[in-house]
Amino acid sequence: MINIKEKSECTGCTACKSICPQKCIKMRRDEEGFLYPEIDKEKCVNCGLCEKVCPVKNTKKIEKKQQAYVFQNSDDEVRRESTSGGAFTAIAEYVIQKNGVVFGVQFDENFKVVHGKAETIEDLVKFRNSKYVQSEVGNAFEEVKQYLENGRMVCFSGTSCHIEGLKNFLRKDYENLILVDVVCRAVPSPLIWEKYLELKKKENSDIKNIRFRDKFYGYKYSNFVIFNQEDKVTYHRGVESDPYLRAFFSNICDRPACYDCKFKKLERESDITIWDCFNVEKYDSRLDDDKGTSRILANSEKGQKVMKELAIHNKVLEIGVKEATDGFLAIFQPVKENARREEFFKDANQLESKELFEKYFPNTIKVRIERCARTTLVRTGIYKKILNLGKKFRKRD
Ligand SMILES: Cc1cc2nc3c(=O)[nH]c(=O)nc-3n(C[C@H](O)[C@H](O)[C@H](O)COP(=O)(O)OP(=O)(O)OC[C@H]3O[C@@H](n4cnc5c(N)ncnc54)[C@H](O)[C@@H]3O)c2cc1C
Repeated sequence: MINIKEKSECTGCTACKSICPQKCIKMRRDEEGFLYPEIDKEKCVNCGLCEKVCPVKNTKKIEKKQQAYVFQNSDDEVRRESTSGGAFTAIAEYVIQKNGVVFGVQFDENFKVVHGKAETIEDLVKFRNSKYVQSEVGNAFEEVKQYLENGRMVCFSGTSCHIEGLKNFLRKDYENLILVDVVCRAVPSPLIWEKYLELKKKENSDIKNIRFRDKFYGYKYSNFVIFNQEDKVTYHRGVESDPYLRAFFSNICDRPACYDCKFKKLERESDITIWDCFNVEKYDSRLDDDKGTSRILANSEKGQKVMKELAIHNKVLEIGVKEATDGFLAIFQPVKENARREEFFKDANQLESKELFEKYFPNTIKVRIERCARTTLVRTGIYKKILNLGKKFRKRD
């Protein structure tokens, strides 16, 4: 029977819940808003399967022959709506064109972040853009297995802990499965996301869509954006001033397992790994159009085959694996827990949303000046020049 001694030992991937033949494991939410398995000991027959499929308890050394690419989707609208270069949509379209099913992360009708599925190209829009909240996987693993057994092609996307959990749950390789992971610094708490949404709904309840990384000011200065029912932007703030993004990037509200992430490594179980590429000019200056670029690792022959197909209609440039990944911390190194994390969660359970965010992420004069300076620099085109200059200096060091 799975025994989680420390919260850092569980990523909430659902492999244990999904494999249980007795259906005696439920995912239960803790006071920080994260889901953990809870076992009905009366029903458990001690078969041990839950322990065998846990990706944290069964970490693997993976050896893969990899290839690396930079990628830009040929459809500018897709690129605009995506976080980086729209690589995920291109992979998902490839799968749907083969009559496949795509699993990814979307908002439900209340903006809760959940895993869902799509069977048409039009429906893929719901997966576009990173949702910086831990997603609720629900019964996605069981559904994936069902589709695979029925012979349908399936693409499953998530963080690398989801991918290793799913692989363990399936317990065999399927030719008709394509696994895609997004490089992930850490996943924030659904409770903190709810608190933030509550705050935003109080300010303006007319919310049709939310993007954590909108490109109104370009890729290099993406903003958290809220759209109303008329698709008009009612709120936009950058990483320096939006309280939720500030919480995310200060590592104050992540899942405990993220601070000791076992899935930060170069060689991965997925077929394809995707992440940002803010320095595309390093590979080809003609690609530097500030509309977004993805970096990709193809970790298997299957992944390489998909990339070959995608190269026919999109901008794909092969680069060296070392060149693509060197020094990129989000791939290799867990984030460091914020010293105020415990205090923050205690307050999250006691304070009103407004009080909570004002206490930890106040809109000070310094923050307002920084935002004003950034937007002015972006509007005048100087921001990009400063970023490029910074990169040149770092290179010389
Ligand atoms: C929590 C999180 C942290 C990240 N941290 C980094 C980082 O530190 N550095 C970096 O370079 N890139 C990071 N990324 C990846 C990056 O933001 C883009 O997702 C990636 O570049 C793919 O972009 P795209 O343009 O191809 O597709 P998009 O359309 O933007 O990506 C959508 C894909 O992301 C998946 N996704 C969205 N939200 C979640 C979620 N909550 N959990 C799991 N999967 C999700 C969808 O299922 C889909 O596969 C992170 C992503 C997430 C979700």
